Amino acid sequence: MSRLRRVFELLTVVAIAILVFLACTEVSPGTEEQQLGMISNTPTIAPPTEPTPSAEPVPSVQATPTPWNTPTPMSAEMPPLKKGSKYADVEGEQGVLNEREYFRSAPGRNQRRVYRLEYHTKLVIVDRYKSEFNETWYRVAVVIDGKTEYGYVQASSVDIGKAKPTPAKTGPVNCGNGDTSIRHGEDRNGDGVYVVVLDPGHGGDFYGASHYGAIEKILNLKVALACQEYLENTYENVIVYLTRDRDRSIDPVSDVDDLELRVRVAVDVEADIMVSLHFDADGGRHRGAEGLVTKGELHERSAALSSLILENLEALGIENLGNRKRRSERSRYDYPDGEYMDGYLINRLAAESGIVNCIIEHAQMDNEDDFYDFCNTDEKLKKIGIADAIGIATYLELIPKSQ
Ligand SMILES: [Zn+2]
Repeated sequence: MSRLRRVFELLTVVAIAILVFLACTEVSPGTEEQQLGMISNTPTIAPPTEPTPSAEPVPSVQATPTPWNTPTPMSAEMPPLKKGSKYADVEGEQGVLNEREYFRSAPGRNQRRVYRLEYHTKLVIVDRYKSEFNETWYRVAVVIDGKTEYGYVQASSVDIGKAKPTPAKTGPVNCGNGDTSIRHGEDRNGDGVYVVVLDPGHGGDFYGASHYGAIEKILNLKVALACQEYLENTYENVIVYLTRDRDRSIDPVSDVDDLELRVRVAVDVEADIMVSLHFDADGGRHRGAEGLVTKGELHERSAALSSLILENLEALGIENLGNRKRRSERSRYDYPDGEYMDGYLINRLAAESGIVNCIIEHAQMDNEDDFYDFCNTDEKLKKIGIADAIGIATYLELIPKSQ
């Protein structure tokens, strides 16, 4: 009897342990929501914590040039992240980093990483090299903590002479009736040029959804490129930037899809609007396109932009599921007026930067009908990109180029 009782007690303990474990384990959100930075009970941005003393002091790094082609062992330690915000006072062509990039001690991927340089770091190119893999590398001068330092970055990470959008030569745009007031409250710097940032979701190691042999990151990119091309070819006074223009991670030196960096692209180019481009996969049960919009102060403008894009997608035959705003479940993300913060991090970060943003889920790529009707060829994706462009142009009241 007592043995039976002990077995029963043991089983009870095991059952309680399992229940406690299940209660503590949250149902994790789907890939799409995670990658969109859905702020659930697990905050994406960690609350400020006390600095913990590190076991070892971080050794100071010196940009001492190593002989050409001498591989240096990779350090497991992350080099410090620095931003060069002004050009070094040296001879050479000026450029900016178009992504986060390592600043290395010599040209080549296996050379020592001295710093991680922040997106949009200003640099001066003082020399050019070919690496052993036939990649072009620049020797550059950057100003780090007030000091000019020399190091090497890969040429593909540098945009030459594209530090800022070119200001309009013509001044404010005439809206057609002599009214030169700023339309829709956009054109935030009042230079008459509309700066649009298209943000194709995922990229590189981050695939997004994957169905019927297609990968979301690629679909998003194709739509973004088509949208950019159409906007720039069709309308006056619009500049379109992409947060990524090829299949790469938004932050190649990190193992997370850095949503903050996406918004920082928009902030750095003084974007008037930012549209994040995605395809949804919600179990394949339904069809249609949906807009995810901010619930904060910019809600009406965010929703107007999204609705115009959705209407143009609807004209292609895609079901219009309308806009959705999602609230964060954590009170610590309250907006100053007491409103709950946006549930989606991109919506929130853009809103905090005063940029009108929406996320467009163009179709359900795991729904067979949506996939084969709208997603399975480049031509169909191009139509989606053009529909986005027309929606954006309508929102900004862009003027078509005269033939
Ligand atoms: Zn996505």
